[in-house]
Amino acid sequence: MKRTPIIAGNWKMNNTLAESAALIEALKNAGNKNNAEIIVAPSFTSLAKVAELAKGSSLQVSAQDVHWEDKGAFTSAVSPVQAKDAGATHTILGHSERRSVFGDTDEILNKKVAAALRHNLTIIFCVGETLEQREANETIAVINSQIENGLKGFTAEQLKGLIIAYEPVWAIGTGKTATPDQAQEVHAAIRATLAKLYNEDFAQATRILYGGSVKDTNVDEIMAKPDVDGALVGGQALIAEKFARIINFN
Ligand code: PEP
Repeated sequence: MKRTPIIAGNWKMNNTLAESAALIEALKNAGNKNNAEIIVAPSFTSLAKVAELAKGSSLQVSAQDVHWEDKGAFTSAVSPVQAKDAGATHTILGHSERRSVFGDTDEILNKKVAAALRHNLTIIFCVGETLEQREANETIAVINSQIENGLKGFTAEQLKGLIIAYEPVWAIGTGKTATPDQAQEVHAAIRATLAKLYNEDFAQATRILYGGSVKDTNVDEIMAKPDVDGALVGGQALIAEKFARIINFN
């Protein structure tokens, strides 16, 4: 099945307003030879500005996370309503930094999935194993349980459009990339899990991105794998020329 590729950039806790504006302006001229969906996830302080500047272009804007409630006494959190109001069409959920630094558990993520679906935000749901788990041969079991518990209670119909990002924790921001074969193996396993939990059509339609030290120099070989439908990029998403090269992978 032909799936439209997605190249997504997670800007994390980087960029002032001026830097965000300069980056999105540069990306408007990046070209898009693969007709990929291009998504950027700025910090909340820059989200409205970036969404405004992206209007009229094919660039889409994502939140990096949302809270599970629509509003209330949750100091410093941002609700899906606010993210949407600021111009986000997507939200990342379950990024490994959210899981390990901020304590987002599968149960919390399940509530965030509900919140994002309630407000029609397309979810980029991140899963991935630690080095310890990989070395103990637990990779697929860990990822299956993140998917099963994080998405629990929703039907394929409700989850239509879901994007999954496989991000091995040991490869994020470390310069270590999974080999294309390692990525393919896990992506194929994720697709099989989606078919088992939901159905074959849903599994075939769901885009599965690879993330973890994707660079201009390794994107081509990763994207060549049949079950790799795109990339979620951290460090190199902050450098316009590098991200442009990733968008225009061969
Ligand atoms: C990420 O944080 O989603 C990521 C993949 O980061 P990096 O590309 O820097 O490894």
